[in-house]
Amino acid sequence: MEERKTKLLIIGSGPAGYTAGIYASRANLQPLIYEGNQPGGQLTQTTEIENFPGYPEGVQGPEMMQDLRRQAERFGAEVISQTIEKVDFSHRPFVCEDDHGHKVIADAVIICTGAKAKYLGLEDEQKYNGLGVSACATCDGFFYRKKDVAVVGGGDTACEEALYLSTLCRKVYMIVRKDYLRASKAMQHRVRSRENIEILFKCNTVGLYGQDGVEGVHLVRNKGEQNEEKFDIEVEGFFLAIGHKPSTDIFRGQIEMDEEGYIRTNAPNTSTNVSGVFAAGDCADPIYRQAVSAAGTGCRAALDAERYLLDHNEF
Ligand code: NDP
Repeated sequence: MEERKTKLLIIGSGPAGYTAGIYASRANLQPLIYEGNQPGGQLTQTTEIENFPGYPEGVQGPEMMQDLRRQAERFGAEVISQTIEKVDFSHRPFVCEDDHGHKVIADAVIICTGAKAKYLGLEDEQKYNGLGVSACATCDGFFYRKKDVAVVGGGDTACEEALYLSTLCRKVYMIVRKDYLRASKAMQHRVRSRENIEILFKCNTVGLYGQDGVEGVHLVRNKGEQNEEKFDIEVEGFFLAIGHKPSTDIFRGQIEMDEEGYIRTNAPNTSTNVSGVFAAGDCADPIYRQAVSAAGTGCRAALDAERYLLDHNEF
């Protein structure tokens, strides 16, 4: 079995992982970045990013991630296109194992594994997975050109997905369980002024139907109230945009997390309850979950790891 030693292992490759890589490589730590099975993280599934400082005209998500990766590599970070599948944080150096069974022995670890889209938990989501159900409009919207689709959720992601789909599709329904949108005012305004978006407030999805793929959604309005009403909408695409779950399952039992699986850090420090293990980005952030805040914590984690390695004479 192949074995590699490193001063610093960075697990994950979104804005947090790459920024940690930039800082750590400039500090001559020669970090290994395991980029995982979605290199570049969630932002590679988004279109234009308008709120990352330094891009007055906006930037495409995948392009920004490639730039960040190149910037980390320029200073000596090594990016490995594999996934870390097991970790043992019970003693130092830490022993981690990748999906090829290779061991990585690390003096310090920064976890930047991000978060993944949530599903409603309906059986039909599994049944029609890839047959009309998707959690990424940017990836799959193209298949629904000139068709009718639905987006579930009322946050910024749902609005962003609905706006994107409205440029491709004939009609976009937004299925919102409350009687208001949670999204920012600017997003709400854009959605409300788009003619082919219809918002279905106080509606819950109870199922999907269709022969060989999604043909429609069973909905209930005003669930549990006197005026409860069941109805269907005919759509061919059903897009989930109801938030995210941190990708931290492999660290369960190894490190302290909250009940949702977000890694607990000793804020403002990025250290965890395991000395030498740090966490940055969405996997440790249930509140802000922004590219720029993820990049910020990635920077802090690299500085924290550098200080830790100096204090332990490993650098
Ligand atoms: P949010 O948690 O903000 O919103 C999730 C939405 O999904 C809410 O409307 C919520 O409803 C709804 N929802 C959750 N669970 C269910 C369910 N089981 N059934 C039906 N509806 C459900 O998540 P987002 O992914 O939208 O955003 C996460 C963060 O990222 C936010 O801070 C957001 O501002 C930010 N963001 C910013 C963007 C930008 O600035 N360009 C783009 C995208 C995200 P309810 O309100 O009832 O809880």
